[in-house]
Amino acid sequence: MKKIRVLIAKPGLDGHDRGALVIAQALRDHGMEVIYTGLRQSPQQIAQAAIQEDVDVIGLSSLSGAHRTLFPKVVQELEQRNAGDIPVIGGGVIPSEDIPYLLEQGIKKIFTSGSTTDALASFIKELMQVNGHVVSKPKKIAHIGIAVQNIEQALSFYTDMLHLDLEHVEHVESEGVKVAFLRIGETRIELLEPLHEDSSIKRFLEKQGEGIHHIAIDVDNIEARMTQMKTNGVKFSNDAPTQGAHDTKVAFIHPKSAHGVLIELCEQMKGSE
Ligand code: ZN
Repeated sequence: MKKIRVLIAKPGLDGHDRGALVIAQALRDHGMEVIYTGLRQSPQQIAQAAIQEDVDVIGLSSLSGAHRTLFPKVVQELEQRNAGDIPVIGGGVIPSEDIPYLLEQGIKKIFTSGSTTDALASFIKELMQVNGHVVSKPKKIAHIGIAVQNIEQALSFYTDMLHLDLEHVEHVESEGVKVAFLRIGETRIELLEPLHEDSSIKRFLEKQGEGIHHIAIDVDNIEARMTQMKTNGVKFSNDAPTQGAHDTKVAFIHPKSAHGVLIELCEQMKGSE
């Protein structure tokens, strides 16, 4: 198999490249060929080098604060040379406030100080497998799970006060819960009532009382996502997806891996809505 070729470049004037060198080495350890341009490259030089070296992806690193002008300039220089299909990703010291702007300007992804080199490597690999298109982003919140003592009692608030329509009620025996879905626009509220003492919802209610229990995100390729996330150290409650309510495959990310929130990945089975 052809090796993925990555250009690591440091646009701008900052004079430290230890971080860039660490990243270059980490990507080599992941089996990629890495070309490092050295310090203080102009966006023109970077675009030129990327084309000459026939790289698959460009990684820009900036510590100097000039990323807002220099990163978009690299994208523009590539476009002017008909090489706009080479994806550009960035990292270094980038305040979160600047990230939406950089994404708007055509940078594919910005890695922040909390990102690992393993996450970077697996992002690049995914990018290549799908020919330059980032794997599909989740499109919506599938539902918000709310633990209640008793669905019959909780229901009137949602239907009479919030004027939501009850869509579907079901027992999910594997989780020991009864669930009720109320549609709200593109998404739903899922009320969860424990069916027996061993239900995790029962334990949740005993510990914290009624309230938000989890957030479910609508995804495709749940198995592939799980594998990729596990490779990057994300902990799940189960090793493989399980059967969820409403014809779905679901997997729960442990709150310790998700900043204190129980997140459910939820894939709609084919042929159902
Ligand atoms: Zn759920």
